Amino acid sequence: MLRRKPDCLPATSQWAASHAVPLSLMTLKLQRLYTGALLLIYLLCSAQVQADWARAEAAIMGTEIRAEVWHEDAALAQKGVVAVMDEMRRIDRLMSPYKPQSELSQINRYAADEPVVVSTELYALIKRSMEFSVLTGGAFDITFASVGHLYDYREHRKPDQQQIEEKLSAINYRHVELNDKDRYVRFARRGVKIDLGGIAKGHAVDNALQILRDLGIEHALVTAGGDTGLLGDRLGRPWMVGIKHPRKSGAMAAMLPLQDEALSTSGDYERFFEEDGVRYHHILNPSTGKSVGEVTSVSILGPDATTADALSTSVFVLGVEQGMALVNRLAGIEAIIVDKERRLFYSLGLEKPSRPSAETNTWMK
Ligand code: ADP
Ligand code: MG
Repeated sequence: MLRRKPDCLPATSQWAASHAVPLSLMTLKLQRLYTGALLLIYLLCSAQVQADWARAEAAIMGTEIRAEVWHEDAALAQKGVVAVMDEMRRIDRLMSPYKPQSELSQINRYAADEPVVVSTELYALIKRSMEFSVLTGGAFDITFASVGHLYDYREHRKPDQQQIEEKLSAINYRHVELNDKDRYVRFARRGVKIDLGGIAKGHAVDNALQILRDLGIEHALVTAGGDTGLLGDRLGRPWMVGIKHPRKSGAMAAMLPLQDEALSTSGDYERFFEEDGVRYHHILNPSTGKSVGEVTSVSILGPDATTADALSTSVFVLGVEQGMALVNRLAGIEAIIVDKERRLFYSLGLEKPSRPSAETNTWMK
């Protein structure tokens, strides 16, 4: 298990010493035992409390959404999970590149011809995406979609070299003109397309948590695919959030005890296909229009899910050396990277586990 060093707390997190869990519990197997023991104690002590957790799962935004909400008023907790799912559907309608009527699709259709006025929310998220482009030297770039839309991972479709070369110059976040006063978006040239797949789920998680806060809820977990946001703790102890093993389905590479923060994982195993020994997956290097090959999984710990989501995609593109250099200079942000050789790398603010896990047996840094 991994955790933040005590002096590297996120700005919004209150890390209570009583929530520390023994570091020796490294493997998933042990983790399960531990969780099982806790669950038993929990069931024995608090049958009443158990009744007030509301849980829901749904497939929205092309991914699995999960919500766990606690409130002493069970009806309010239930109202909370319903509100979370409604918010996910709303964001999907607004930002899906696959829905022709979404605001995002309208931008892609018209913004090369004329300025397209957009909602405050979508405008703000596009603007935030641009800030991540600047921060990451262009590793995060929503115009990756100018080439990205030529891939279909389900159908095993990919552009050939000539198609990539034709479209590559349309990838550049500087082609997206934003006008704050009139709130419009315009593309500087033809062929530009944008896609918020690297940040929209984090945004949806943050919105969902805000809706829960506004309802008076103080303990919740909301997960959209690899993006998890946490409100408070899990009633007196931290939430345990796992980082999936990139190659063993069902296994975990690491577990983190978290509260009041967000964890986002980007992996090359989410959407991909293989051809002639090459893995074509959904995270593209904006300078080549091709899938990034150095790492297999990047998890980012941060104060909010939007930031963690955008940075997990960014660090995936940047790779171990540049990605860690970026993370280590950002306050409140930590990273765990698994590279192609299954080595795990941690940013400076994380305590190194006391021994390697059974799943990933090589450790570096
Ligand atoms: P997911 O949870 O869908 O796996 P990630 O956070 O890992 O999402 O981001 C992957 C998604 O980000 C891709 O499906 C694509 O929509 C988008 N994306 C891919 N490459 C880039 C990039 N270089 N910059 C910004 N967004 C990207
Ligand atoms: Mg992301």
